[in-house]
Parts: sequence; C-alpha cells; structure tokens
Amino acid sequence: MADCRICKSKTVRVMDFGKMPIANGFLEKPTGSEFFFDLVFVFCPTCFMAQLENTVKPEMMFNEHYHFISSTSKAMQEHFRKTAEAIIESASGKNDFLAVELGCNDGIMLRHVAAAGIKHVGIEPSSNVAQLARRNGVTVEECFFNRQTALEIAQKYGKADVICGANVMCHIEDINSVFEGVDALLKDDGALFFEDPYLGDIVRKSSFDQIYDEHVYYYSGLSVAELAKRHGLKLVDMQAQNVHGGSMRYYIEKGAARAVNTRVEKYLSEEKALGLDRIEGYARFKESVDRICQDLKSTLMRLKAEGKRIAGYGATSKSTTVLNYAQIGPEILDYISDITPTKIDKFTPGMHIPVKAYGNFLNDNVPYTLLLAWNHKEEILKKEDAYRKNGGKFITYFPKVSIE
Ligand SMILES: [Zn+2]
Repeated sequence: MADCRICKSKTVRVMDFGKMPIANGFLEKPTGSEFFFDLVFVFCPTCFMAQLENTVKPEMMFNEHYHFISSTSKAMQEHFRKTAEAIIESASGKNDFLAVELGCNDGIMLRHVAAAGIKHVGIEPSSNVAQLARRNGVTVEECFFNRQTALEIAQKYGKADVICGANVMCHIEDINSVFEGVDALLKDDGALFFEDPYLGDIVRKSSFDQIYDEHVYYYSGLSVAELAKRHGLKLVDMQAQNVHGGSMRYYIEKGAARAVNTRVEKYLSEEKALGLDRIEGYARFKESVDRICQDLKSTLMRLKAEGKRIAGYGATSKSTTVLNYAQIGPEILDYISDITPTKIDKFTPGMHIPVKAYGNFLNDNVPYTLLLAWNHKEEILKKEDAYRKNGGKFITYFPKVSIE
C-alpha cells in the first residue's frame, strides 16, 4: 500500500483500472510503442484524501504537444469571466491589490482582470501556453508554484490579496509545497480560492472518467479542510460550480478565528452521508462504475449487432479512461469528432480510434453518437439540434446509460 502524499499514512485501494495510457497521448499512427501505467484510485482514511497511487512524470503529460487550451469552450469562457468579475469587485477601493492565479493557462480568466487595470500575476509552467496568456495582456511568471517561487513573487510584486486556481490544484503532486507557498504569499487578510472536479459529484454520478493520469487528487470538503489545517489555514466556504460535470470551489483564509460559512458544515455532512470519510463508502462507487461500463458496452454491442454505425463526440482526456476501461475501440466507434486542431487525424490513446474533424460528423448522418464530452451536454444538444431532429441520437452514460 502506498503512502498518502499529504499525511504519509497508508492509503487503501478503491479501484484498480489496470494499464492505462496517457489521457492526452493522442497518436500520429495507430501502431508502434505506447506508454502505459497502472491507474489505481486510492483513499487515505486518515486525512480523507482520494488520490492516484502512481503518477506519471509531468514531462510525459505536459509538454509542447499538450492539447488542453482553456478558451475553446463558450461555457468555460463565461464561467471564468464571472470569476474575474468577483475579483475585480473585491479589488475596488484597494490601492495595492494583487491577484495571483496558479495555472493561468491562456489567460481565459486573468485577461479580464488585466483589462480592468488590476495588478495581477499568472503562474504558468508551460511556456507555449504562457505565451498565449501574454498575448492576452496577462503578466506571467513561468514557474512551478512552491514556497521558494512564492517568496520570489512576493519580493517582486508584493503580497497577494487573492490567490486562485481552477483545475490546477488537482494536478500538482506536491500539494503541500503549494500550500506552503500560499501561506508565504498571502496577506494576513487575503484569501485562496480554488476549484477542481468535486469528489462528491464523482461518487454520486459514478463519473469515474475524471480519474486519469493528470488528476493526482480528487478533493472533497473533508480532505481540503484537513489539508488547510495542516498548513495553518482554514476552509471557510465552499461553492458548487456547474462546470466539468460538477466542480467545487473552496475558499481558504489565514487565521483560526475566521468565520466559517454554514455551507461548509452542510457539505461536510453530505460528504459523510455519502461515505467519503471511510473506505466502505467507496465500495458502492466501484460497483456502480463496473455496472455502467458493462451496460455501456452491451448497449453499443447491441446497436452494432443491429448494423448501426456509431460515432463519438469529443476526444476529451476524460474519455480515455472510459474507452480503455470499458474496452471500446474502433470496431465499435467509427471515429470520434473533435474541433481541436492538434487532435484531428490522430488516434485516441490506448484504443486507437481515429479522431476526425467536426465537418465529418456534420456530413455523416451517423444514427448514434456516444457523447464523450458529456459535461458539455447542454451546450452540445443545443448545437446539434438539427442532428437530433433528423433522427440522430446521443448516448450518455452518467449516472446511467441512456439514449436520447
Ligand atoms: Zn492522508
């Protein structure tokens, strides 16, 4: 059993997904060697942190070929514009206000803060993405955030009123060093807020596709409260976010005397009722995941047996876990439609399904489409109204398999 990265206690295995490829490791050719690792989801009964047993070296995942650019989705753009508005509002009337964003990506959020003339710094270790952020008017420091770089940032820009991050904290293996950095950079009355896919939603919906190489941690209020406490910080609020199939934003402040919003207690009780504080609570999750995979595979096989063609929609990172764990390959899905230029005409990791440009899907009239980008379901169903009116059907699989 592996040690917990947070508290060094022994973790307990929840699910072993077997050999998995890199979620974003799209291939030029469907042949040749490919990197696989053991994807094992574990839980620490001492500090409640759900995490991966093994991680992949960051340079295997995040390099010049890295495909995830935030600004591609309209819903995400709107979400981050609202985040920026809240920061701009809290800056009003303050002279030396500083906002720091960890993992600023292409500046999807911080560009609004920059445009409002507010002092800010984006931290972004991927230089090609940092370059995009600079083009969007954002001040960027290219580094990994830890105590040392936090002290350097404080020296250069002053201490921060706000430190924030979206879909970044779950990626960083040495999260203790990030919290040490937060403690060093934050003003005494400052606040850290961050959002990531929420373990409560993952367990409730059985949305196990959030579990892949890039996500080291699966946060809950229970585990974040413990993590904050270890670093002399305090979880003071939680706000659910309707993105990525269910995310949670955690607000953390310095000083034990800070008032805690009543929402925190409500979420913590819900999490305990779900069993997120004990290993027994995760047994149901595993059963449900296996049932969904069996149902999905048999539904797709039945359609194939009826001679129906099936396409996939959205060659997302998260679809890698579903396709590989349920063993859905090119004999089931003709292709996966995607709009990301760097994925088009490549092959999906592990299962080697061809990725085709969106135009292909538009002209195809394929009768069934597996909605792999299910977290953008609302936006996609609206966009593909004509496809559905023509008789096309989407297959979804969380919290259960359905055809609509
Ligand atoms: Zn632990």
